[in-house]
Amino acid sequence: MSAPGAPGGAGPRGAGPVLLRGGRLVDPAGGHDATADVLVRGGAVAAVGVGLEPGDAEVLDCDGLVVSPGFVDLHVHLREPGREDAETIETGSRAAALGGYTAVCPMPNTDPVADNAGVVEMVAARGREVGLVDVFPVGAVTLGQRGAELAELGTMAHSAARVDCFSDDGRPIREARLLRLALEYAQAFDAVIADHAEDPSLTDGAQMHEGEVSAILGLQGWPAAAEEMVVARDLLLAELTGGRLHLCHLSTAGSVALVRAARARGVLVTAEAAPHHFTLTDEAARSFDPVYKVNPPLRSKADIEAIRDGLADGTIDAIATDHAPHAREDKEVEWASAPPGMLGLETALALTITELVEPGYLRLDQAVERLTAGPARCRRLPGHGGPLVPGAPANLTVFDPTAAWTVAAPALASRARNTPYHGRQVRGRVVHTLLRGTFTVRDGKASW
Ligand SMILES: [Zn+2]
Repeated sequence: MSAPGAPGGAGPRGAGPVLLRGGRLVDPAGGHDATADVLVRGGAVAAVGVGLEPGDAEVLDCDGLVVSPGFVDLHVHLREPGREDAETIETGSRAAALGGYTAVCPMPNTDPVADNAGVVEMVAARGREVGLVDVFPVGAVTLGQRGAELAELGTMAHSAARVDCFSDDGRPIREARLLRLALEYAQAFDAVIADHAEDPSLTDGAQMHEGEVSAILGLQGWPAAAEEMVVARDLLLAELTGGRLHLCHLSTAGSVALVRAARARGVLVTAEAAPHHFTLTDEAARSFDPVYKVNPPLRSKADIEAIRDGLADGTIDAIATDHAPHAREDKEVEWASAPPGMLGLETALALTITELVEPGYLRLDQAVERLTAGPARCRRLPGHGGPLVPGAPANLTVFDPTAAWTVAAPALASRARNTPYHGRQVRGRVVHTLLRGTFTVRDGKASW
């Protein structure tokens, strides 16, 4: 991965030495949660300790702030190529940096689909050129995400993009035989298969979570069982093949229980949950505002509790946003016609603090783990997630865990506006983000 500001890049050239002084260093991978200074030099962590001498470094006072590894998002949709009117790799990278992220993994459901070396290499190259965040593209499991035959996983894995994760996200891998093949084949290059768990025979035409609210509203329901059946199948196939399985955006209590039991018997599975699945319930659909339409749908209060518990006990390794920008003319239509998905990159930290840490579900260090070391471990992403030890790339996020602010859709850096949190009061704000020692965000503003 080349440095930001490489030839042709939009980023600033070079990064001077910086001393982040007096912050609370929360680095779960390094087992660190205490006040410490971090000296950054030459794009790397030069020293960590108390009372470090700045020498020629610029000193930034981090008293009252948290210093952590840069956040890692396993699940974003950057819409390029194909829907640059909704988001681009550049606007999505800026939104990510503002959200405290130093690495994002864009899903392959672009147009054309990222099912070959050419597309994944283009996405990775464009990410490097923008230089605001490391972009690790996810390749499609099946050709065109059509679910009929495997894409050339090996070619993508050995391409310049070095794809190490494959998914047909947006759709499940319908045929058990194909998932089995993918889980077997991916072991040859130590890749992970990430599945979107949904049985389409139970969700065809579904508009929201199946429950009391869908019955009252008269909208066709997406039952929890449609997710849980596929989670169960996927876990059995991971066990059968010994392959690495990752489950995208778990949303139901039953899914969490299935993953917990599978992990207890040693199945190689990791899982993620999205902030909206621990923040919002299906009650939001009563507004008929399509900003709340998402797949998997917003679930019940009991499901939210289970997702929070799963994140707390580590059954769910990662908070992943499923950032899904949509153009206004597509999303601001009647509920039934609107595509599913909502923005997530710029609000994930605040929702994590407001919905998980402040009510006492997770300690702050656990929350940071689910945003950093947890997701980095699911993908084995080099240079991300910590530990912040001398010589490690200086991928860092500095945030104020108590800063109160109000989400305002027009102020977001994403090209799209489909956030369900407009007007919501939250706490926790990103102050600085550094990618290999260069400020991508400084004092809450994107550097370029
Ligand atoms: Zn999905």
